[in-house]
Amino acid sequence: MSEYLKPLPTLCAENRPFWDGCREHKLRMQQCGGCKHVRFPISPVCPRCLDDAFEWLDLSGRGEVFSYIVFHQVYNKAFAADAPYNVALVQLEEGPRMYSNVVGVPNDAVKVGDKLEVVFDPVTDAITIPRFRLRQPPLASTTHQGTICA
Ligand SMILES: [Zn+2]
Repeated sequence: MSEYLKPLPTLCAENRPFWDGCREHKLRMQQCGGCKHVRFPISPVCPRCLDDAFEWLDLSGRGEVFSYIVFHQVYNKAFAADAPYNVALVQLEEGPRMYSNVVGVPNDAVKVGDKLEVVFDPVTDAITIPRFRLRQPPLASTTHQGTICA
């Protein structure tokens, strides 16, 4: 692992379960103990019902592109070598949306509505960043299209 020079989150008691999950290759978010709403970003109370009880829920890691942009402007020198790079707003199956990157394809190959699945990018010993790749369509079923004999 080479030296990682981009901004990194500061770990604290509140966000550590999320980042521990990423290190374990699990996308994990808070689920309200009251109304079961799954929320992100991390918050001490549910934005729907204000209940402060919650559990960490392992998500499917599946979602789709809700919105998408390609950055050509370098706003932070640490990202200069990456430009142009994409930033996607990912609609997760469980409800929350999160910003991430779509990896493994050229920037112009991503469209709103594309199906995604999470992949994990370990950038330091402590931080693994969740990113997304295009989900492969299921293989065509191999139903037999034979003639019906009377
Ligand atoms: Zn709630």
